[in-house]
Amino acid sequence: MVLSGYILLGFMGMEVISYCVHRWLFHGVLWKIHESHHTPNHRLFEMNDVFSFVFAGISMWLIMTGADTMFSSPAFGIGAGIALYGLLYFIIHDLFTHKRFMPFKSDNWFMKLVRRAHQRHHQDAGKKGHEPYGLFLFPYDRYPERKRNRQD
Ligand SMILES: [Zn+2]
Ligand SMILES: [Zn+2]
Repeated sequence: MVLSGYILLGFMGMEVISYCVHRWLFHGVLWKIHESHHTPNHRLFEMNDVFSFVFAGISMWLIMTGADTMFSSPAFGIGAGIALYGLLYFIIHDLFTHKRFMPFKSDNWFMKLVRRAHQRHHQDAGKKGHEPYGLFLFPYDRYPERKRNRQD
């Protein structure tokens, strides 16, 4: 497989893994940590951020492991795909949806769709949780734009 294939694999794999981890671990045995993300505390960092560091660590380890062979190594491509996922997650989930660090506005339809869907997840602040658990993979027609959207 070529490099772009591994990058895509890393990216899509991350969405599938984060869906599963979010649904069955974060809203399960790891709820005590993930709860910090569902209870706004207005602090710069929340306990839930440790998960981002774990995924970033895995991604960096894969990139460094594959660095010798650069563009032919699966590890390099998969690591880069995870890094790309993390970057988009940070921009759309943290900066845009939750207005952390340096919030910004956008009229991009896809970013607004992802935000509406993720806000639905946050309407349930409890351990039981609610769909969608993934950030990008959800039924797109279930979160239509409302006529008067006070968010914008
Ligand atoms: Zn959650
Ligand atoms: Zn969130």
